[in-house]
Amino acid sequence: CGIVGYIGTEDAKEILLRGLEKLEYRGYDSAGIAIANAEGVHVYKEKGRIAALRDVVDHDEAAVVGIGHTRWATHGVPSQVNAHPHQSKTSRFTIVHNGVIENYEQLRRAHLADVTMVSDTDTEIIVQLVDKFVAEGLQTEEAFRQTLSLLEGSYATALIDEEDRETIYVGKNKSPLLIGVNEGVNVIASDAMAMLQVTNEFMEIMDKEIVVVTSESVTVKTLDGEEVSRDTYIAELDS
Ligand code: GLU
Repeated sequence: CGIVGYIGTEDAKEILLRGLEKLEYRGYDSAGIAIANAEGVHVYKEKGRIAALRDVVDHDEAAVVGIGHTRWATHGVPSQVNAHPHQSKTSRFTIVHNGVIENYEQLRRAHLADVTMVSDTDTEIIVQLVDKFVAEGLQTEEAFRQTLSLLEGSYATALIDEEDRETIYVGKNKSPLLIGVNEGVNVIASDAMAMLQVTNEFMEIMDKEIVVVTSESVTVKTLDGEEVSRDTYIAELDS
């Protein structure tokens, strides 16, 4: 399983699909992508092979921003509904997540008793919590940090806000995650292999850090919102 993300100037769908194909070796039972463009955020997801996902994607739909996921089900059977990306009840927020949220039941009971869950995944509580904290008045980044600080377990996760389609929010704890950088384009990947098609310059992300990624900037912060500086390195790999 793995996650990918792209924000730049080229066809995000194709780059995400190719990235997911590079992650196939990690094993998966479903795959999906979400792309953002002037029309909004569109989710495509399927149980089974990435080839099946390719078949349902509208290849004429232009987008330069997106996130993608291959799922290895831990909570909820492999199915189209349980495949990622998942959206919040308002559809404003869209998320992909690798890992396991151990306290998702407690969090659901404590904060989301009035929300009807669409899927059987532990992941969905992350996106519903962000939506709830934003409804209560927090900015998206604050809501994301607050949500992640409540989670117990592992995650590599990426979030898109339909009201700001030029930013991807990323979080990590105990699951692999790298940010790749290049001129006017930045990418997200569980494994550098997935994004060598875009860059060979990467940045490591530490546990309990978030990253705010645009096409022009990568900002790493702690869950308390303190900015962290981080060097990049060149990955010596053949694509
Ligand atoms: N726990 C999540 C799920 O079952 C994510 C699994 C994964 O890492 O792919 O949907």
